[in-house]
Amino acid sequence: MTPGLMRVLHDVEALAKEEMYAMQRSDLFGNCVFDPLTPTVIRYRSILTEECCIHELLHAKLWHSGFGFLRLRNPYDPNESLRHIASMLNGTFHHAIIFPKLLDLGIDPKENESRGVRSFLAKLITTSEPQDSFFNPLVAVVYSRAKLETTLSQIDEEFASEHLRPGKQLGIQLVAIVDKYAIDDQRSFNEGLRKAMVLLQMQSFLQFGAPTPT
Ligand SMILES: [Zn+2]
Repeated sequence: MTPGLMRVLHDVEALAKEEMYAMQRSDLFGNCVFDPLTPTVIRYRSILTEECCIHELLHAKLWHSGFGFLRLRNPYDPNESLRHIASMLNGTFHHAIIFPKLLDLGIDPKENESRGVRSFLAKLITTSEPQDSFFNPLVAVVYSRAKLETTLSQIDEEFASEHLRPGKQLGIQLVAIVDKYAIDDQRSFNEGLRKAMVLLQMQSFLQFGAPTPT
């Protein structure tokens, strides 16, 4: 364990007043996931790297410091698009704070994110059912991730096709909200998350949650 990882682990466990542990799960959509409903756990799909541990611990640290998360109103909702929207939207807000900290620790997370966003984008471009009511919000969150968290160039050209245009417009507004509100201040951060949920008209499906009242 490197000093960087030990320090982050120590900080999180002190905040959470609990021991953190890792759990392998084969059903995850990313390789490594932090879930606010089980905030003491780092879930990973196949390989648990030090980079992944630090990344997820920084999510846990934000959560235990009062930075909120959006949750599904129905935790068992099977709609995949909805689950992706919630998870990616939380990530977008958290990463605005986490990525600079990872860079300070000598980890560049943008390569990894670029791969994930690239495969999502490929699915959106070839999707056959853009009339799905979650399609435009999904395009918006993928657009914001592409803009804020990757090294991909020509993002706007990638989202230029007709069926992606309404979602991209939403995405541009979402990026502005993240830029303004996702800062190292719980009140602003949590207000921004709620604004993003309203912008994407997700209030019937998502709700805001935070570990302590803010
Ligand atoms: Zn993350």
